[in-house]
Amino acid sequence: MKVRYDERNIIFSRVRLQKNTPEYEAYYKNHPDLKRFDDEVRGINIKEKLRESDAFKSLFFPLSASNHALIKALHDTVDQTPVASTRAKPPASFHQNIKAIAKKFGAHDVGIVKLKESHFYSHHGMTSESLNLHHYGKAIVPHYTHAIVYLIPMDLEAINRAPHYEEMMETESVYLDVAYTGSRLALYLKNLGYKSTFQSESFYLTPLVPLAFDAGLGEIGMVNHIVHPTYGDRIRLGAVLTTLELQEDKPLDFGLTAFCERCALCVMNCPSRSITPHKRIVNGRTFYKFNDQTCFKLWKNTGTDCGTCIQSCPFTQGIDQTTIEAMQEDPSLIDGVLQDHLKKHGRRRYIKQPLDIVKLKDD
Ligand code: SF4
Ligand code: SF4
Repeated sequence: MKVRYDERNIIFSRVRLQKNTPEYEAYYKNHPDLKRFDDEVRGINIKEKLRESDAFKSLFFPLSASNHALIKALHDTVDQTPVASTRAKPPASFHQNIKAIAKKFGAHDVGIVKLKESHFYSHHGMTSESLNLHHYGKAIVPHYTHAIVYLIPMDLEAINRAPHYEEMMETESVYLDVAYTGSRLALYLKNLGYKSTFQSESFYLTPLVPLAFDAGLGEIGMVNHIVHPTYGDRIRLGAVLTTLELQEDKPLDFGLTAFCERCALCVMNCPSRSITPHKRIVNGRTFYKFNDQTCFKLWKNTGTDCGTCIQSCPFTQGIDQTTIEAMQEDPSLIDGVLQDHLKKHGRRRYIKQPLDIVKLKDD
């Protein structure tokens, strides 16, 4: 039997629970083992912990301060737009148009999944409270039949500054880009007469990694993220859920499992030792055991969302397509690719020098 994840159990939902509320009491009555950790990290203000001056914080935090308001406005617009009463009848090849349109709207790669019940969370968590959608604890009934899953890469120059502020700024910025692309596509599909919505950092009906795997956007690496052959895991994922029938894609195999077994650079570079090489199978997909608590606590205590694992991945730094194809034919070539990567970048490609966008010069 396939497992459905419960959004109430993800760390980003748990830490939004407010003490002395019925939701808080009920959750920790059922999960007393998580209470101590969650109470400890809930109170830490991530941005206060950032090791930067007050001047830096006051000048650069506003770069992303309005992102959430914009994401909420996009959700409100899509939610308030009615589905057209006349339904367009696209041809069987329309998945090709939809992918091209998603790219026109900002996606860099796109795949399509025919949704099964097991793709959906079983219940809403706290994630959508910030959109004033009070869904916490409600069962999620799958109303959508297909997902258009897409990705937008994060800037490599920012990722290579991880774990500094540039990485978090880029993550927050691309979350907004993902919402913009998803909202345009959802509005378009509603205009075609099909019920549609989009997922963003504030609203999920499904977890994104299994969806992106099934859509053929990449493989699940040891890092537990989707690793794309061109962009590695410097990507943010998005999905538009719809009732429009579209031809689905298949999972991708570019030889990542064999590569990860010889690499493990994300494991070696993780400052909180949260990544492990131990495989676990969930719903027929291979993941790796991962400690989300130690990872999240490190974020909270350092003031960014780290991203060192993203920066460490050789695919993030770029491996050309011909080499990837050759490694698939002959996995013994992986060792040479890794040696070249280590010679060029060391254990990780870290750049200490800040990006000009957040460099403060003395006047
Ligand atoms: S974000 Fe940082 S702490 Fe978390 S898994 Fe990646 S490297 Fe480890
Ligand atoms: S850093 Fe290496 S082990 Fe980790 S996901 Fe990337 S290729 Fe796999």
